[in-house]
Amino acid sequence: MAEVIVDEDACVGCGSCVEDCPNDVYELDKEHGKTVVVKEEDCMACLSCHEICPSQALEHNDIHVAKRLYIDRKVSKALDKII
Ligand code: SF4
Ligand code: SF4
Repeated sequence: MAEVIVDEDACVGCGSCVEDCPNDVYELDKEHGKTVVVKEEDCMACLSCHEICPSQALEHNDIHVAKRLYIDRKVSKALDKII
């Protein structure tokens, strides 16, 4: 299972990761204006949120390499069809 960490000092509360995550791993804590991790166990390590965060506030540890390889190949094949 991936460990998902939000750097609270870096997070500007834009909500992009909350919108973007396909598995609802995040929620926006409106009181503090920061994202919090609520379903870490559902993270599939697509790293989409990592790429979309404008503050580079997200960190993922213990990513399963084979799972990431599968996702990279799927994206690569999809791009081949478009280009
Ligand atoms: S995308 Fe980054 S800055 Fe925006 S809410 Fe998520 S962690 Fe915070
Ligand atoms: S890596 Fe993918 S599944 Fe995991 S928290 Fe980010 S967007 Fe969600």
